[in-house]
Amino acid sequence: MPFSKLGLSSLLTQAIQEQDYSAPTPIQKQAIPVILSGKDLIATAQTGTGKTAAFVLPILEKFNKERTLRGKRIRALILTPTRELAIQIATNVEQYGKHLSLSSMAIYGGVDAEPQKERLIKGVDILVATPGRLLDLAHQRALHFNELEILVLDEADRIVDMGLVGDIYKITDRLPSDRQNLLFSATMTDDVRALAYEFTDNKMGEPATEIAISPKTKAAATISQWLITVDKDTKSALLSHLINEEKWDQALIFIEKKHAAAKLVDQLAKRGIEAEAIHGDRSQAVRERILADFKSGKLKYLVATGVAARGIDIGELSRVVNYDLPFKPEEYIHRIGRTGRAGAKGEAISFVAMGDFKNLCAIESRLNHIIDRKEIAGFPVRKVVPVSILNYVPKNKR
Ligand code: AMP
Repeated sequence: MPFSKLGLSSLLTQAIQEQDYSAPTPIQKQAIPVILSGKDLIATAQTGTGKTAAFVLPILEKFNKERTLRGKRIRALILTPTRELAIQIATNVEQYGKHLSLSSMAIYGGVDAEPQKERLIKGVDILVATPGRLLDLAHQRALHFNELEILVLDEADRIVDMGLVGDIYKITDRLPSDRQNLLFSATMTDDVRALAYEFTDNKMGEPATEIAISPKTKAAATISQWLITVDKDTKSALLSHLINEEKWDQALIFIEKKHAAAKLVDQLAKRGIEAEAIHGDRSQAVRERILADFKSGKLKYLVATGVAARGIDIGELSRVVNYDLPFKPEEYIHRIGRTGRAGAKGEAISFVAMGDFKNLCAIESRLNHIIDRKEIAGFPVRKVVPVSILNYVPKNKR
């Protein structure tokens, strides 16, 4: 099915062609008509499914038909948990809207607010924002919401995890109740569902349409997953060995703690491997520079803490490594969703130490299969990790 069948006009389909998208992805096929019809939407879709275009394209289509914009006013607000994601979405808005004359910008913390305030004076059609900076600017009356038509909450599960729900309600309290609401989340936990219902319950009209793209918690099929059991103290040697021996072209390496990220970069450097780390303590400018280098291929190995890695969107990411296994199965699925995107192949490799056994059981029982194990010559383990029990239930859930 071509994009034009979804009700998008030629200036948008032309921009899509220039992005080399040949056909809409499943989330785009399902979400675009719903959004164009004006209904509220609650969508479960992981990163990598093409969900950003699924909400950005119909917003552009709607706004292009009717162009009215007043100073300090915005027409669509896209709320995201992190600044990286805000920047990424704003870039997509610009790419898809390049042949239209609509305005867009991203606002986020960690940088000077003055240029953002100045830019808002003329009004902005599509504003992408992190909640904290948006509230700051709203308190300063740098923008007003009385002409807002569409509200999008992206990566709602992450918003919940990061404790930002209070800020979201503070924002929705300020918005006109007659608006269209769109919520996207990689996973639909009870907390996200509660937020989704609250969020879309602003009109007397129809209930929100619900769409779930991949089965609730399944990882995309194009990703090959495997794990290596390892002793904690040999992890960095193992990583260097794999990078060198298997001649990895690229890897996004997830690590739990920020100080450990910096240490790992040093350890890799000692073995002649050039890597960089991004984490919450690095300035916005540094993070942006490193991300740009990684995206362009100039930097091949990026070490990132889970939160800092949000919003990293690389078309053809071939490999993610869980240097540390994440604590939540949802996080595991989300992380590995960063590879094998939109049809491309990818691999996800996890380093699993004895202390990770319970986490591994939780992840594998969520996946409903055991992850293949590989043994790497020269890296025997002293503390063997048993094979998981797939029906493992954590104590607090019994
Ligand atoms: P997202 O799920 O929004 O993070 O998008 C994941 C990646 O898929 C991005 O790099 C997009 O540029 C790409 N993408 C989005 N829609 C399509 C499409 N219809 N065909 C091919 N790639 C796409």
